Amino acid sequence: MAELRKGPFVLTNTLSRKKEEFVPLDPPNVGFYSCGPTVYSDVHLGNVRTFMSFDILFRWLKHLGYKVRYVRNITDVGHLLGDAADGEDRISKGARAEKLEPMEIVQKYTNGFHDVMRMFNIQPPSIEPTATGHIIEQIEMVKRILANGYAYEANGSVYFDVPAYAKKYAYGELSGRKIDELMANTRGTEGQQEKKDPLDFAIWKKAETEHLMKWPSPWGEGFPGWHLECSVMSTKYLGRTFDIHGGGMDLKFPHHECEIAQSVAADGQVPVRYWIHTNMLTVNGRKMAKSEGNGFTPQELLTGEHKLLERGYSAMTVRFFMLQCHYASTLDFSNAALQAAEKGLDRLMAAMSTLGKLKPATSAEEVTEEAVSALEQRCYDAMNDDLNTPVMIAELFEGVRMINSANDGKLALSEGSIAQLDRLFKLMVFDVLGLLEEQDAKGNDGAMDGLVQEFIRLRNEAKARKDFATGDAIRERLSALGILLKDTKDGTTWERA
Ligand code: AMP
Ligand code: ZN
Repeated sequence: MAELRKGPFVLTNTLSRKKEEFVPLDPPNVGFYSCGPTVYSDVHLGNVRTFMSFDILFRWLKHLGYKVRYVRNITDVGHLLGDAADGEDRISKGARAEKLEPMEIVQKYTNGFHDVMRMFNIQPPSIEPTATGHIIEQIEMVKRILANGYAYEANGSVYFDVPAYAKKYAYGELSGRKIDELMANTRGTEGQQEKKDPLDFAIWKKAETEHLMKWPSPWGEGFPGWHLECSVMSTKYLGRTFDIHGGGMDLKFPHHECEIAQSVAADGQVPVRYWIHTNMLTVNGRKMAKSEGNGFTPQELLTGEHKLLERGYSAMTVRFFMLQCHYASTLDFSNAALQAAEKGLDRLMAAMSTLGKLKPATSAEEVTEEAVSALEQRCYDAMNDDLNTPVMIAELFEGVRMINSANDGKLALSEGSIAQLDRLFKLMVFDVLGLLEEQDAKGNDGAMDGLVQEFIRLRNEAKARKDFATGDAIRERLSALGILLKDTKDGTTWERA
């Protein structure tokens, strides 16, 4: 096995826009931070896609033998509506709308978020820090930025001085923006009078008297800016320079650009070595978002109770649907794609249970152990190539074809090959892709599949001894029970009528 892991693990680093070999700063330790949810409403399926992509990265790094510290925060203060400096805090707005304490809103949607993560088998991070739990550290960072001359105080708020920073350091490198163009584009735009330049952003905001969430600070009562919390919490737990920082593409600018600027301005250190950005889940080509009204919740997905859904789908069907697409490509939601994923997942799981019962054979054309090893290597290569889950899944379906053909007596697999395939499938399907066996609404549980596979085997035996009448009778009786057998070039599969 060990030599199978050989070959570099490459990741696309947004900083260079290239695939780069991943080499941690302090192997075998890996520090990995991803921006977590803002807990003021239910997470939608788009958010799930991003957290699932990072779950794959977390699982793969661990599988490669790294000791990963994965930090994923909870944003429970400071994320303003529309990300505008004068917008309302999302948590405060939620609290007002639901007539709850801000911390009740935070607790309610944090609980909901955890439920959704469990539902999709997304592993919990090593540390899940909250912004409100790190106010002191945030005030300290604001002080350092002020002391270094990259921020100014205005009327109880503190703003990051982008033009002052850009005189010495590059601003906009991550998102590929040029400071001159940014300045030209924002010139004359209506901004807050307090800000010296429209590009400046709040690192500490003065709280008005009616504001619900506020803390004392050297600048009066207020609350931290959203970008600041990620700079503070990532470097507190992972060090001033750490390995990987992830987030959705929509966070590249300004959020992540501001994070880099804050760290450099406060401590003179570039915080992140590899930036990983996931692409968006879209609906009819438009980003799924709460504000678009096209964001359905995972619960609606299960029940099918949403105008975009023809019916309900299981969490594992959705997981499989998402992993059949590379994390850096957009993925458009459609009922047809989910239904295809449901069938694909059924086939994959059915092949795994067939594999568990397969008897070694030598009579038919033999699949060599080298061929199975080559398949295994291709699965590793796909995952090492920027977490290419769609290619890895396609390779697994090569294995499915082998398994089904062996079950039909058309291919022979040795005992060693069966054991190797069994190990490979369990590793890739359960541990790496994080799929779970499920007893879905159709009742396609393991026992049911086992029974049908037994009939398929009896039918194959009948056909092999040219007893076509028995073969046809098995097919017809199963059909009368609503179980349809389909003969394909790769063997016989089944589905419910
Ligand atoms: P938020 O709670 O809005 O800060 O979002 C949490 C995470 O979900 C961020 O990393 C976002 O980039 C990501 N996200 C938001 N909308 C989508 C979407 N439609 N598809 C994929 N990821 C998304
Ligand atoms: Zn963040």
